[in-house]
Amino acid sequence: MYFLSELEHKLLVRKLLPMAREVGVSSDLRGWNWHQPPLKPYYDDVKLPMYAVCSKYCPSDRDIYLGFVEKARRKLNYKIALGKILHGVVSDCLQAFIQRRDLSFERWCEKIRWKEIPAKPEELLPIARKVWNYLVKICEARYIDVKSRQPYASEWDLMASTVPFLIEHKISGELLGLSGLLSLDCYDYLRCIMFDLKVQAEPEPWHRLAPVGYALVFESVHEIPVDICCVVYLNILNGKIVVKKDLFFASDELRSWWVEERDRKLEIVAERKDPGKPERNLCRKDCVFYHVCYG
Ligand code: SF4
Repeated sequence: MYFLSELEHKLLVRKLLPMAREVGVSSDLRGWNWHQPPLKPYYDDVKLPMYAVCSKYCPSDRDIYLGFVEKARRKLNYKIALGKILHGVVSDCLQAFIQRRDLSFERWCEKIRWKEIPAKPEELLPIARKVWNYLVKICEARYIDVKSRQPYASEWDLMASTVPFLIEHKISGELLGLSGLLSLDCYDYLRCIMFDLKVQAEPEPWHRLAPVGYALVFESVHEIPVDICCVVYLNILNGKIVVKKDLFFASDELRSWWVEERDRKLEIVAERKDPGKPERNLCRKDCVFYHVCYG
């Protein structure tokens, strides 16, 4: 899922890394400068999760007001259920492989709390199994390849070279006005790439905001630069797994866009300002607050 293909690796080495070195990032937009403008959050007593800052499903941001001021109930749907299950499959399968734990899909299924998932097991499990098997196969193939080239490497070293990923790494975003309990999808610690996984989604420019946000948080906590980000699109089309990646440089422009989104959304919550509804035809019927706005 997070492994780069040969072409993506070329793009990284020949284009993105040289661009990052040549263009660079302004020092005031590095996460470690969280204590001064523009990164310093204006409101100290409001913290938001990353998805709230980066999501642009609602054209007027009323979803932020409803979710964090009114505390309205979200109505979950099949797409959200699929996203939740496949995020779980990807993170649990990779972690089980890295830690050399049980890789049985059946045993993983026993842990699913179906009451929290708005879909039937028979709708989701065949897809989940397919993604699980795909990941196991790809990790094993990588492992065998690395082992054949480094016969004297220890088991730990082989695993670190094969799957060099921090998965669901827990990190605090408080320095940047975010929740203290963030969990990032994946960070490749050999190539310093911040990944974000999107399930059953078509690319949108704003999807780049989440990995850029996590890069800023990583910089604020660990004080190391994260210049490259990637959105991974995992789609199931006619029963087939399709994985596409949007690999990019976390430029000043994207960082500034993230700061604008954060500031506007923190203000809605801190000032308890209802931004109102946009034209009805701009609202998606599968919006989790559609029943609140038009019920
Ligand atoms: S129904 Fe429309 S206005 Fe209401 S939260 Fe959803 S997208 Fe926003």
